[in-house]
Amino acid sequence: MAKLTVSDLDVKDKKVLMRVDFNVPVKNGVIGDDNRIVAALPTIKYTIDNGGKAILFSHLGRIKTEEDKKELTLRPVAQRLSDLLGKPVTFVPVTRGAQLEDAINGMNDGDVLLFENTRFEDLDGKKESGNDPELGQYWASLGDMFVNDAFGTAHRAHASNVGVAEAMKADGKKVAAGFLMEKEIKFLGEAVDDPKHPFVAILGGAKVSDKIGVIDHLLDKADKVIIGGGMTYTFYAAKGMSIGNSLVEADKIDVAKEILAKGGDKIVLPVDSVVAEKFDNDVPNKVVEGDIPDGYMALDIGPKSVAEFKDVLKDAKTVVWNGPMGVFEMSNYANGTLEVGKFLGTLSDATTIVGGGDSTAAVKQLGVGDQLTHISTGGGASLEYLEGKELPGIAAISNK
Ligand code: AMP
Repeated sequence: MAKLTVSDLDVKDKKVLMRVDFNVPVKNGVIGDDNRIVAALPTIKYTIDNGGKAILFSHLGRIKTEEDKKELTLRPVAQRLSDLLGKPVTFVPVTRGAQLEDAINGMNDGDVLLFENTRFEDLDGKKESGNDPELGQYWASLGDMFVNDAFGTAHRAHASNVGVAEAMKADGKKVAAGFLMEKEIKFLGEAVDDPKHPFVAILGGAKVSDKIGVIDHLLDKADKVIIGGGMTYTFYAAKGMSIGNSLVEADKIDVAKEILAKGGDKIVLPVDSVVAEKFDNDVPNKVVEGDIPDGYMALDIGPKSVAEFKDVLKDAKTVVWNGPMGVFEMSNYANGTLEVGKFLGTLSDATTIVGGGDSTAAVKQLGVGDQLTHISTGGGASLEYLEGKELPGIAAISNK
């Protein structure tokens, strides 16, 4: 069912309450990567260019103590947003009350306001994270309509995405997706629900336990499921192979056996690995085929695996990738991830999607992101989407 989007709304003269994902890294008041602020700009600009009043709110980190509030204020984010938009952004340092309401009532069409970190409400009984209905109702009272552009939190039911949306709808007000949310739903949704075949999933990263749901769901949808990264060796163990000191989840070996039985020849495992005696970039490494020798740990896929993976991927029309092929943070073990990423970039006929989290960091760090169709902004949210779960933040948006 298609969701209502911000372009379906008449925002002129309206107070447009907008949940954005400004959960950016901040250290001593200095913002690190501002990608998430940049990603929210199209929806904000659309709203103000069409004469709406943009009332923005977001969470930032986790608030457990009064002390956390000093580090996790959104004030520096308001400044960065103002620089990016090239116009003033009013920052309101509270999450409710007369100061906020007065500031909103004083807005002109085309103005932008950001209020304080929604998780400041968590100090007093987890009101935000616990989806306190009174809080959702209060925030809903601040706007004429609600736009949710925070895909990164769509897998959580919080007051600032689900509570507020439900309260808005109960008041007969519209709830729409922002452009970023729309894009995420389009690419992840099409890949999972209506993929062009051949559809190949590439799943890597450290832990099988994090990805079992995704592997299981995608085995039903994909033509091939390539497995790489640290979780490979739990599958090796399940096949009775030697794994040396490689990463393994002993309690997941049985699950890995079940996945192998279910997947049959749909599952493609690495045939060789780059191994070293220590988890260290500066020790000698070598390539081994199959079993991992005693005293060694596997830290990347080897060249034959890369070639085999490319062969599986070359005719793909849809590719979803989640999780690096090796310890990409260390240069000697980044090759598998780099080669797979570069190869995806050459598949001009395919929709290539990177599913958030560490894989997003990997493609960015390795400089292969520009050639891919879509890089998801949500780690946990994209994983849950790929598991086939309904995300509460998306479910709460009105249908068209
Ligand atoms: P995830 O968050 O599950 O996607 O895992 C990402 C992490 O897996 C990265 O930090 C990688 O360094 C790590 N990783 C990938 N391959 C291996 C491996 N063979 N051994 C240990 N860690 C790995």
